[in-house]
Amino acid sequence: METTLIARTADTQPLSADTLPLSDTQPLSYVDALKHDAPVKSIAPSTSLIGMDDIWKTYVMGSEKVHALRGVSFNVKKGDYLAIIGPSGSGKSTLMNLIGCLDTPSKGQYWLNGKLVSKMDDDELARIRNKEVGFVFQTFNLLARASALHNVELPLIYAGISASERHERAEQALVAVELADRMHHRPNELSGGQRQRVAIARALVNNPSILLADEPTGALDTTTSAEIMGLFERLHANGNTIILVTHEHDIAERAHRVISIRDGQIEKDHRIK
Ligand code: ADP
Repeated sequence: METTLIARTADTQPLSADTLPLSDTQPLSYVDALKHDAPVKSIAPSTSLIGMDDIWKTYVMGSEKVHALRGVSFNVKKGDYLAIIGPSGSGKSTLMNLIGCLDTPSKGQYWLNGKLVSKMDDDELARIRNKEVGFVFQTFNLLARASALHNVELPLIYAGISASERHERAEQALVAVELADRMHHRPNELSGGQRQRVAIARALVNNPSILLADEPTGALDTTTSAEIMGLFERLHANGNTIILVTHEHDIAERAHRVISIRDGQIEKDHRIK
């Protein structure tokens, strides 16, 4: 997964969409406007960070079609803390890949921060992904031979930030996850929980719009899982928007809103805090 992420983020340039005015009533997607040669009106509610509208994802395998997602619609506001839960094969990974701009839907519209992601090509997806999404994976995906500090600096290298600013921002991110005293340690000199905290610092160092975590406690023992969930709680309290994908109910219940999916459809969407 990380290989893909790195390969796709290596060519990152600042999004030119940033320079375009986005109004609340009529957010424009620069990319889409270019493609259609005309401004495109948003149907996404202006208050939402994420707007998913009738999302379908169909995989074609030979003559067979698998509908991994079948008409999924939901919005996420900035600052929300959402868990997506479902049994194996329900479509969680497919949905995570779409939210994280790793893939586009077969049908339906996905708006992220005022931009229409569902129509983007691979280069556009790589740019928006690097800017808007911080990923946290079950197996941490850290570079084994690099220090914690260097691991956290990586996204800033791809974003073209100067060495001194990189260093400073990576240090701050590690302080924020209470790893100030472990910055120069390599992953194999850190515990599982500390490795995941390095990965969380790396996810946050670019100030993304969403922190997207895929089974973030799946490789951790119960005590360390609780510690990582406590960190997510603090990050949420500090204003971060968090979406975590899990199959564990006790982890999902730490979020403030839970969307349950089954057979590619939303079964339940409820707020618990
Ligand atoms: P989950 O993450 O909840 O286990 P997935 O999103 O991985 O579910 O899968 C949803 C459905 O889509 C499953 O039936 C799975 O077999 C199918 N699927 C997922 N990825 C692919 C793919 N690349 N090609 C074909 N079918 C796929």
